[in-house]
Amino acid sequence: MYTGTLFIISAPSGAGKSSLIKAYLTQSNLHPAIVSVSHTTRAPRPGENDGEHYHFVEKHQFEDLIKQNAFVEYATVFGNYYGTSKTTINESLTQGINVFLDIDWQGARQVREIMPDAKSIFILPPSITELEKRLFKRGQDSHDVIEKRMQKARSEMSHYNEYDYIIINDDFNTSVQQLSAIIIAESLNTKKQISDNKNIINQLLAL
Ligand code: GDP
Ligand code: ADP
Ligand code: 5GP
Repeated sequence: MYTGTLFIISAPSGAGKSSLIKAYLTQSNLHPAIVSVSHTTRAPRPGENDGEHYHFVEKHQFEDLIKQNAFVEYATVFGNYYGTSKTTINESLTQGINVFLDIDWQGARQVREIMPDAKSIFILPPSITELEKRLFKRGQDSHDVIEKRMQKARSEMSHYNEYDYIIINDDFNTSVQQLSAIIIAESLNTKKQISDNKNIINQLLAL
């Protein structure tokens, strides 16, 4: 029985999803939450640590994990494998900890199939120009990689209407507040309140 909520967050690369999740996690003390650390075959960026940003693995290791059925979902994004391992998310959700998945639309589709209670949020940039600016500002990808990510942005964004919520990440603080609002609202949904407050509800309804 899961008592935590699974939040799927997708966006075109550079829209700000990692920054928003990080800001939410540092600002919010309301609901315990973690970001699931994905496995990937892409090379680490400067400043990225194994086990913290991603579990960086070789292609053959990733393929072994696929064979072992270790992933809830996996997909090929920008020519690399990315996948979410089952263990971390199951353990946390069972303990009542909310879990954020920073995954692409292909992964989001797979997760919705398996975990229909998951809530999904799509982050959009305020404009294409601003998206490009942010990718350059982050300063972690080469010119070629940025070009590739910009070309992919339109196809990633075309999936916006498969999500439960949309945040347009223009003013950063407003977006963090909007993300918090979604999470708070979800914590109050009837199914969750019934499971979290069984005793109160039973006492109120006792004859
Ligand atoms: P970012 O776009 O700048 O965050 O770059 P990343 O290299 O961190 O992520 C590349 C793409 O892979 C993004 O679209 C992510 O949402 C997606 N991604 C990351 N982790 C996973 C995962 O575990 N599963 C799936 N399906 N996609 C992932
Ligand atoms: P993603 O995880 O979606 O690829 P990041 O969180 O790495 O995106 O953000 C890309 C860049 O844009 C980072 O340099 C980040 O600081 C910046 N950024 C994120 N949100 C905003 C915003 N609302 N306004 C201006 N810059 C932003
Ligand atoms: P980056 O290489 O910039 O870290 O990530 C590129 C894209 O891969 C992002 O859009 C990110 O959301 C996606 N991504 C990262 N991890 C996963 C994952 O485990 N599964 C899927 N499906 N996508 C992922």
